[in-house]
Amino acid sequence: LISGMFILISSFSQKYPPVKFLSEKDRKRILITGGAGFVGSHLTDKLMMDGHEVTVVDNFFTGRKRNVEHWIGHENFELINHDVVEPLYIEVDQIYHLASPASPPNYMYNPIKTLKTNTIGTLNMLGLAKRVGARLLLASTSEVYGDPEVHPQNEEYWGHVNPIGPRACYDEGKRVAETMCYAYMKQEGVEVRVARIFNTFGSRMHMNDGRVVSNFILQALQGEPLTVYGSGSQTRAFQYVSDLVNGLVSLMNSNISSPVNLVNPTYRYPLSMYFTLSKTSDTLSRSQIQFLPEAQDDPRRRRPDIRKAKMMLGWEPVVPLEEGLNKTIQYFSRELEHQANNQYI
Ligand code: NAD
Ligand code: UDP
Ligand code: UDP
Repeated sequence: LISGMFILISSFSQKYPPVKFLSEKDRKRILITGGAGFVGSHLTDKLMMDGHEVTVVDNFFTGRKRNVEHWIGHENFELINHDVVEPLYIEVDQIYHLASPASPPNYMYNPIKTLKTNTIGTLNMLGLAKRVGARLLLASTSEVYGDPEVHPQNEEYWGHVNPIGPRACYDEGKRVAETMCYAYMKQEGVEVRVARIFNTFGSRMHMNDGRVVSNFILQALQGEPLTVYGSGSQTRAFQYVSDLVNGLVSLMNSNISSPVNLVNPTYRYPLSMYFTLSKTSDTLSRSQIQFLPEAQDDPRRRRPDIRKAKMMLGWEPVVPLEEGLNKTIQYFSRELEHQANNQYI
């Protein structure tokens, strides 16, 4: 019986991805809010594999258990079903505060909840950071620049946001979240880090989140025309999720408390994304394009300046767009297969 138990335990411990051993001095207790989401689950993987203790807090609005299920049961991992709009009392050293829907259809679905999550949720996490002396990194966004009137956008730019438009719940929510971080830093001495994240893509992004990369890949794989909103002359800069995760960890562990842009600075038009995708895959190259009316308040041009991250963090993105898109296409294909196999269960 004892040898049977031993085999059971050792086969159990092998089911997890490999985890580094860290001495108690270097091992941190890390909270990731929104850790079951797209970016949060990749961050969970990195911090777990680096040997830290990770607590994921998520209300599963846009995240899902499946994104982190490979860690469930690991002694360094904990998953808590909790809404950050409610207070949270735990003991941690660092907080990556990612809880918030990120794609326009998701954050516009319930604007009041998006506002509550970004304001009350951030206040709660700052209150927690203050009580336990933890450092907090806020996942902010390029949307704080709104529809920019200055190009390229560096971190000094104050932004150009419509406070009452359809995107305001997210844009203004994140702007207040940043304001709260600096109020807690100045008044209460809380250590804060603010990452201004631009459009990110990769595996585990939601297939139906309505963003340009996910839409184009899904439409192409399903043989539907690719939808371009407006003239398709808007620009965005994109990064692959592993680059972002490395940037978040290096920002957290740096001494830079002011905001930092994180993205691959090469900016693209939706139509040029289509051409990149076409080069990547035969299926995509056969797709038709359908022009649809432009989205309300859609920022026309976005062109980031990442010199600060390069100089002060020594960080820069390394995954070429084509390679990242390829990996994402493979992930979407597997997901579609998984869905097809499970639809009658
Ligand atoms: P996501 O929707 O996949 O993840 C967000 C996670 O937060 C989900 O797991 C969701 O269930 C959880 N969540 C939402 N509201 C919550 C609440 N009230 N309490 C607890 N959990 C809650 O989005 P993502 O792309 O992984 O984005 C993560 C963070 O990065 C967000 O804060 C987003 O604003 C920011 N960001 C993302 C991008 C991007 O392109 N993906 C760009 C800029 C900023
Ligand atoms: N808070 C929390 N966890 C903690 C400490 C505080 O969720 O460990 C919440 C608390 O509910 C409060 C918010 O964070 O609403 C702000 O906390 P702070 O101490 O700044 O404010 P106060 O409690 O004095 O109003
Ligand atoms: N877009 C598009 N077709 C789509 C989805 C988006 O042309 O199917 C455009 C959208 O209008 C915007 C850009 O692509 O100009 C990026 O949109 P996304 O929703 O991915 O990100 P965000 O607007 O939040 O930067």
